[in-house]
Amino acid sequence: MTRTTYSWSLHCSSCSATADAAGLPTVCPDCGAPWLVRYREPPAPAAKARLAGRPWSMWRYREWLPLLESEEPVTLGEGFTPLLAAPRLGEALGLSDLWIKDESKNPTGSFKARGLSAAVTRAKLAGVPGFTVPTAGNAGVALSAYGRRAGLPVRVFAPRTTPPRILDQIRVFGADLELLDGHIGDCGRAARAHAAAAGAFDVSTLREPYRIEGKKTLGLEIAEQLGWKLPDVILYPTGGGTGLIGMWLAFDELRQAGWVTGEPPRLYSVQSTGCAPVVRAFEAGADRTEPWEDPQTIASGLRVPAPLGGPVILRALKETGGAALAVSDDALAAAERRMAQLEGVDACPEGGATLAALETLLAEGRVRPDESVVLFNTGAGWLYRRN
Ligand SMILES: *Cc1c(COP(=O)(O)O)cnc(C)c1O
Repeated sequence: MTRTTYSWSLHCSSCSATADAAGLPTVCPDCGAPWLVRYREPPAPAAKARLAGRPWSMWRYREWLPLLESEEPVTLGEGFTPLLAAPRLGEALGLSDLWIKDESKNPTGSFKARGLSAAVTRAKLAGVPGFTVPTAGNAGVALSAYGRRAGLPVRVFAPRTTPPRILDQIRVFGADLELLDGHIGDCGRAARAHAAAAGAFDVSTLREPYRIEGKKTLGLEIAEQLGWKLPDVILYPTGGGTGLIGMWLAFDELRQAGWVTGEPPRLYSVQSTGCAPVVRAFEAGADRTEPWEDPQTIASGLRVPAPLGGPVILRALKETGGAALAVSDDALAAAERRMAQLEGVDACPEGGATLAALETLLAEGRVRPDESVVLFNTGAGWLYRRN
C-alpha cells in the first residue's frame, strides 16, 4: 500500500501535540483545542507566475491550501470577491485609502462559502457519509449548498430567531433543518449528538481544521488585490473568528514565502455590545474568553457566546497590535445603511458593525487618516431583511 504524503500537518493551537493530516481530523485529542494547519514549506516563487492562468476563485491559491496535486476541490466558484475602493465613505470619514472587501458576492451570499468549500472538500475525500452543523444562519446555507455539491446529505441546527430568508435558503438546497430555542451553543450540542448517532461529520467552527484554511484566502486575496502590499488596518466582524485567524495565518505565510514584506495589518475584532466575549477578554488582558450570558444581537453571525478559538483570536489581535471593540445594534444598523447608501454595497449587519467600529477608532485617534483600511462586508444584506 502506498502512503499519501501530505504537504501539511496539524499542530495544536494550545499544547505541543502534532498529527499527520491523514483521515479526518477534529480537535487535539490531548487538550481539546483546535488544530492549526502547518505546511512543510511555503509555496515556491513559481506559484506566483502560475496565478495568471488560474480561475478567479479561492482555489487559484491551491499551493496554499490543503489539497494534493491529484485532488479536485468541491467548489461553486467561491472567493475572489471584489475589494472595492470606498471614496465617498472615505471622504465622509476623512480617510484617503478606504476599502470594502465585499464577501456578499460569494456563492450562498456570505464568506462562509470559503470555509465550507475547504472543509467539505477534505471530508468528502475522507469518505464521510454526510454533514451536520450548528449555525447562526449563513454557515447552514453554505454547508447545505456544498453538501449538495458533494452529493451528500446535510442536517442543520439553527436558532428559531435566525432571519427567515436565511432559513428559506437552507431549505432551497434540500437540507434537513431543525430549529431550536436558544443560541448557536445550544445548536452545537444538538449537532454533536446527531453526529454521534448518525455518523454525520460535524463541521462546526474550529471543530475541524480546514474551514480556517478556506478563510485564509481572504488574506491572500487582499494581498494580491493590493499588488502584494498589505493594508495597515483590517476590521473583521468576529463570531467564531475563523476569518480573523485565517488572515493572521495568511499574512504570516505570505511573509515566510517572501511574497510580502513589512508588518502585518493591525487586526481589529468587531462585536456587538449584546454579545462581546472577545472584547471583554481583550479589555481584561485575558488569554481566553469566558461564555457571554444571554447573547442578543441582530447581527446573527456575531451571536457566538463561547468561541472555541477564543485564545487564538486574542493572540492574533495582540500579535498584530490590533484590538477588539463592540458597537451597539443601533450603531451597526445605521452604519449598514450608510455603507449601502454611500457606496452601493448591500451590507449585512455584521458588515455595518465594521464601519461603526472604524468611526470609533478614528474618533479616538487609534486609526490615522493616511492609513489604508479594509472593512469587511461578510454577507448579503438582503438575506437579513424581514419585509
Ligand atoms: C459567520 C459570520 C460572521 C462571523 O464570522 P467568524 O469567522 O465566525 O468570526 C460574520 N458575518 C457574517 C455575515 C457571518 O455569517
